[in-house]
Amino acid sequence: MKAARYYDRGDIRIDDLPEPVLSPGTVGVDVAWCGICGTDLHEYLEGPIFAPAQGQPHPISGESLPITLGHEFSGVVYAVGEGVDDIEVGQHVVIEPYIIRDDVDTGPESRDYHLSPDMNFIGLAGRGGGLGEKVVVQRRWVHPIDSSVPLDQAALIEPLSVGYHAVERSGAKAGDFALVGGAGPIGLLTAAVLKALGVTVAISELSPLRRQKALDSGVADHALDPAVADVTEEVRRLTGGKGADVAFECSSVQAVLDTLMEALRPTGVLVVVSIWGKRANFDMHKLVMKEIDLRGTIAYVNSHPAVIKMVESGQIDLSPFITGKIGLEGLVDEGFDTLINRNESAVKILVSPSGEGL
Ligand SMILES: [Zn+2]
Repeated sequence: MKAARYYDRGDIRIDDLPEPVLSPGTVGVDVAWCGICGTDLHEYLEGPIFAPAQGQPHPISGESLPITLGHEFSGVVYAVGEGVDDIEVGQHVVIEPYIIRDDVDTGPESRDYHLSPDMNFIGLAGRGGGLGEKVVVQRRWVHPIDSSVPLDQAALIEPLSVGYHAVERSGAKAGDFALVGGAGPIGLLTAAVLKALGVTVAISELSPLRRQKALDSGVADHALDPAVADVTEEVRRLTGGKGADVAFECSSVQAVLDTLMEALRPTGVLVVVSIWGKRANFDMHKLVMKEIDLRGTIAYVNSHPAVIKMVESGQIDLSPFITGKIGLEGLVDEGFDTLINRNESAVKILVSPSGEGL
């Protein structure tokens, strides 16, 4: 089978690999669609970051570069391993792409398995990936999804779960006012979850195309241009002078962080969703004087069942966020190149590893 493998910074190759072998407790999945994530771009441009460098095998997967990429994917079950009796061949599934130690409690009540030591991701630290035609995944991380949800949209459930967990962390509730800083894929999908919960959403974004996407997709009530508008003033005006109840930092840009701190109401909650490759300059005095709650969020934890329900019920429509579909051969020249050099109009580019559906 064909798979896109990450060898090192700037080096991704389409390889011919043997098909993965099922073991007891696993599920074999024919990958339908896999999204390209900002994390994949960071690995390509600046990595290895999450990916284990050669000679430094990941402590759980035991693998190091090259590894198959792709952690945002949907597919169809083609085989089940011994002992798996609650999932059937032909069923549509999405993957919660975790690599987590076997002795960690990953049960339905766990709120912290994603924070366990050496946590990493399928498609970044081994165990195959969604940018291969087939993948074998432990049953725990396979989530069935109703076949009424198109498989291309299902591939966005993974990044949508990132937004869902971020919103969970904020404690936002219906009637609240949220300010989202940055309308990239994660900003937009976080906004989608907020809207679905009945929160009023303002999104701040420099790119006119991204602002338009936020409005056209219906995930934002207001799209503000920080180059011309005083975002803090606008938010005050929209909230009757109060300020935003919750804010989401989805850009890893200093100016955005400052604006969110400014636009929050006293006792507001600021959730940092983006990955910061550098230290931020932080106004501690403002945090103290407004009694702001600053919270981090990473990935998701037992979020998939609720997110899948939101998509199955039609509460969230993921179709506006799919802006391109390509084959495995076009991964770097079309997919990565578009997202790195012309990313204003692109939200999520999906790859079909088998070429089916293109
Ligand atoms: Zn991702």
